[in-house]
Amino acid sequence: MNILVINAGSSSLKYQLLDPDTGKLLAKGLCERIGIDGKFTYKPQISGKTGKDAADVSMPTHAEAIQAVLDALVDRENGVIGSMKEIGAVGHRVVHGGEAFNKSVLITDEVLKAIEDCIPLAPLHNPANLTGIRACQSVCPGVPNVAVFDTAFHQTMPPKAYMYALPYEYYEKDKVRRYGFHGTSHKYVAGRAAAMLGKKIEDVKLISCHLGNGSSVTAVDGGKSVDTSMGFTPLAGVPMGTRSGDLDAGILQYLMNKYGLNIDEMLNILNKKSGVQGVSGVSSDFRDLTEAFQKGNARAGLAVDLFNYGVRKLIGAYAAAMGGVDAIIFTAGVGENSAAQRMDIASGLEFMGVKMDPEANKARGKEAVISAADSPVKVLLIPTNEELMIAMDTAAIVKG
Ligand code: ADP
Repeated sequence: MNILVINAGSSSLKYQLLDPDTGKLLAKGLCERIGIDGKFTYKPQISGKTGKDAADVSMPTHAEAIQAVLDALVDRENGVIGSMKEIGAVGHRVVHGGEAFNKSVLITDEVLKAIEDCIPLAPLHNPANLTGIRACQSVCPGVPNVAVFDTAFHQTMPPKAYMYALPYEYYEKDKVRRYGFHGTSHKYVAGRAAAMLGKKIEDVKLISCHLGNGSSVTAVDGGKSVDTSMGFTPLAGVPMGTRSGDLDAGILQYLMNKYGLNIDEMLNILNKKSGVQGVSGVSSDFRDLTEAFQKGNARAGLAVDLFNYGVRKLIGAYAAAMGGVDAIIFTAGVGENSAAQRMDIASGLEFMGVKMDPEANKARGKEAVISAADSPVKVLLIPTNEELMIAMDTAAIVKG
């Protein structure tokens, strides 16, 4: 069964068609500038088929964008399937499921309502995700739609991990708590890690480091998320590309008073002008920072240090939280590509049984054990694949 995976933003939509049983990707692409001047990109993954790169296609709404995707997929010449019948279901990435969803679900009217109810928790993302779902319902009636939430995997966290030490009514009345994000990625790599270790997921303690532009670290005990570094919003945790990560809330009052900032301006600084970009003054991209540091820019080096140190501290914290760890996972842009940062993060952890293999750590973008053969704690490089995880969940739900 092929699954169409949709990740809808407010004016863009990413898609992949894949077979979750074999993991085979048939086609992928992107609709951009929806509601503006529509640009359509189609990348068939079957040899001999020709794609499209930012072609002009009229897309006044997401419905025309989905129609363009379907037309391309079944196109006689360059399509990858014979007809719509070969699409078993559509899996949608949905950012926030609040406390309503602890797993992926078949979309019904009640589910749509519950996703709507989560809009205040993700005001930028959930409305766009809903638009994508409604577009699919109108363009391909009869094809089941499944929602896969970034937050669902973390719903297993115990209250001591998800509660903030605030007056309790803010949790009860206003749902202020840690939700965590990147759940689809953490779930996928945790499953792969258990397979690589040759163990049942129920029997392993893992620390998953999703290190990209946005980063989060998650403690996975027996296949369940028990703690994670992002919080009520994706602003929390380690310093990121442009996000500050955790900080003393007292700083907000101090800076807002001193510079006459309102809360929106302050949050804009914390979300878009902080992190390694803010510290270095150079870039939010770790490749640029490494290059700048090598040319003598000390602040670029400090930014990378701050990030690596933040991740290392969390690994220590989560090992303590779980009472041990069997394997540490590195994934996403930085985790999959930067051997130097993996080495720097893990090098401080010899005391807890982490011994890297510098040669194995040269691996890039493919699954690899990068710890030494005699390392009590294994270190694993696992490329994430959120689309495959969404397709796997979607297929499992429609197959019942
Ligand atoms: P996103 O959170 O946007 O999905 P990614 O997981 O794609 O981000 O990660 C993007 C980041 O990965 C870039 O900002 C860049 O800093 C980092 N990255 C990619 N390749 C390398 C590399 N070879 N070395 C260091 N960092 C890298």
